[in-house]
Amino acid sequence: MSTTQTSRATVYGYPRQGDDRELKKATEAYWAGTVSADELLATTRDLRRQRLALLRDAGIEEIPSNDFSLYDHMLDTAVLLGAIPARHREAVPDVSTAKGRLDRYFAMARGTAQAAPLEMTKWFDTNYHYLVPELGPETAFALDATKPLAEFTEAREAGVITRPVLVGPITFLLLAKAAPDGSAGFEPLSLLDRILPLYAELLGELRAAGAEWVQLDEPALVLDQPADVLAELTRAYARLTSVPADRRPKLLVATYFDRLGDALGVLRDSDVEGVALDLVGPAAANLDDLRALGGLGERRLVAGVVNGHNIWAADLAAALDTLDALRGLAGRVDVAASCSLLHVPLDVALERDLDPQVAGWLAFARQKLDEIVLLTTGLTAGRAAVAEPLRARAESLAARAASPLVRVDAVRARAAAVTDDDLHRASPYGKRHQVQAERLALPALPTTTIGSFPQTTGLRQARAALRAGTLSSDRYVEAMRAEIRQVIAAQEDFGLDVLVHGEPERNDMVQYFAEQLDGYLATTQGWVQSYGSRYVRPPIILGDVSRPEPMTVGWATYAQSLTDKPVKGMLTGPVTMLAWSFVRDDQPRADTARQVALALRDEVRDLEAAGIRVIQVDEPALRETLPLRQADRSGYLAWAVESFRLATSGVRDETQIHTHMCYAEFGDVLQAIIDMDADVISLEAARSKMAIVADLARADYPNEVGPGVWDIHSPRVPSVGEIAEHLRVATDAFPAARLWVNPDCGLKTRDYPEVRATLTNLVAATRQLRAQL
Ligand code: GLN
Ligand code: ZN
Repeated sequence: MSTTQTSRATVYGYPRQGDDRELKKATEAYWAGTVSADELLATTRDLRRQRLALLRDAGIEEIPSNDFSLYDHMLDTAVLLGAIPARHREAVPDVSTAKGRLDRYFAMARGTAQAAPLEMTKWFDTNYHYLVPELGPETAFALDATKPLAEFTEAREAGVITRPVLVGPITFLLLAKAAPDGSAGFEPLSLLDRILPLYAELLGELRAAGAEWVQLDEPALVLDQPADVLAELTRAYARLTSVPADRRPKLLVATYFDRLGDALGVLRDSDVEGVALDLVGPAAANLDDLRALGGLGERRLVAGVVNGHNIWAADLAAALDTLDALRGLAGRVDVAASCSLLHVPLDVALERDLDPQVAGWLAFARQKLDEIVLLTTGLTAGRAAVAEPLRARAESLAARAASPLVRVDAVRARAAAVTDDDLHRASPYGKRHQVQAERLALPALPTTTIGSFPQTTGLRQARAALRAGTLSSDRYVEAMRAEIRQVIAAQEDFGLDVLVHGEPERNDMVQYFAEQLDGYLATTQGWVQSYGSRYVRPPIILGDVSRPEPMTVGWATYAQSLTDKPVKGMLTGPVTMLAWSFVRDDQPRADTARQVALALRDEVRDLEAAGIRVIQVDEPALRETLPLRQADRSGYLAWAVESFRLATSGVRDETQIHTHMCYAEFGDVLQAIIDMDADVISLEAARSKMAIVADLARADYPNEVGPGVWDIHSPRVPSVGEIAEHLRVATDAFPAARLWVNPDCGLKTRDYPEVRATLTNLVAATRQLRAQL
């Protein structure tokens, strides 16, 4: 076997946003009623036309289509297959017009006054969130191929035969959930035979329109899949490849975010014409697995050798080594990014203030296209053809490794000197509990909140004015202090026991700290889609991290000066500081986490020295950062726990450490939660009706816990009775002496009337329960 056909440069998907986030602006204007359906659709056509031209001009030889989305590709797939919940059909019954179709689509995404939206959850280990299709035995599947056909045709008319991208049937079903009103124990995967005919029909239509290849995204195959799922995978692709070759495009099954494991053999044994593999980071193991299997035969292999998940300029020589190693393992080897470029910002060139040397270390979506094209040339024409860019890249990588922006010996020495003692509080929890109880003198079932209070327009305007230079920093501080005064007074009024300053100064819980730590880099245009029309600008961890000066002490001590009640110092933990940033690729994440933890340890100690008696270090991302593969999880949890302990163990027994987690099932991180040894943990619990409390009791959770009694994702104000009921469930399952009362999460997305009403109810319900203890 040899690489008989020439390699081609390709990508699986490209950011949808437009250079100036035109997509966000147009969709939001449509929702606000200031842009018509036709205008919105015209904007999306322009954006797709620009993307097509950009990819073609960059030298991408096989360009995808249908990777564009008005909101989300899983939602698109639900619509494609007719999997539309009854409540959304009823909310928007008439879809005979473009406006009707858009409104039903957005009803599924965002809900209407009567119909709740689909649930949203994280897309694998990215910070993109997809909408979770709801399926049941009653789902009336029906193919609506309008979108993939229109986008294919539109590109064809512009002279490009694209490769339509579809979420594959196995991934679609595995990521869907049973409709809430459906029968217990229902598995969406059991619907496979009902959707395969629709996929087959769609393949026929795409072929008729001129498609030569279609890309079926099956990232769910990189999760640990049991044998019965692999059997369904075999069946699914046997069915799709049984469509005669002249009545369907060739099938490229695209996998990404990790190694394939056993699913690789299943695909090799199938009749699909192409397989796309992630070959960066831990997924590089795919190469060994491929060798062990003896390769893919005459099939096409698309090699994801440019990391689509981070923002670093690639080691081009190493990527070429990987490509060379693939020769002979497939009939043809094409070059791509490891996953869709949706998860990185658009273009480094848009960062006008960046030091040009640092800019050269980065590769956003646009730069990754150049890397892919260059590697394709290197693969087909030999290294000599790309000698100059290879040399320049090697030089740039060496400069990065040696740069004082990246390597700070003092930080590295301090991290290397961490000992086991640094990871332990002076005394065990039992002793700490005693001295903290004496010092804080809190009632039974102490009440508190998670940190943020509503972010009002006034606060956002003040921040914008500070950035724009129209508000002096003194006036800004005064505006924040005024807010803190108001937040403290309100909490005293509600009757809460442990207060917070309200986090008015924070735009975002990671960015706020990233801006103050050395080693982090902020972008001005590095927008990445988080969900729908929401974009974030994750900071970049560029080098060794340290804290030049205190970050929160001024706000916390000001708040504490206003009240006799304890005010919590409020920090973001090391795991979350990494999870919502782009991290370094030149050292293990554990090492980066340790540096961040040491910076936070200094902040924790400074807060303590300034008289702050309670300090909360939030780790909402701890659970979501769990590696996709089971085998990688214990290693991750070990450094996650260690970094939390390092950040928080430097204080005296009488200082109470809190942590907070949300957005998750905690079942598979219970032991880690115990090992973190925070004095108090607050957890999201209201939506699951306090189920977590019984889990903690069963796991003998030794410290204190505040299970959330208010689902802050909903505008509904829970009554005293409802909160009291939650508390009864909690006190029945767990010793009341170690229970706290708090909402599920921060209050920044809520408004003051809701907050006032609910926190008043929360205190009243707690007082009822206290009287019964
Ligand atoms: N302290 C943060 C807040 O209250 C925690 C946010 C979070 O858990 N995501 O906003
Ligand atoms: Zn939270």
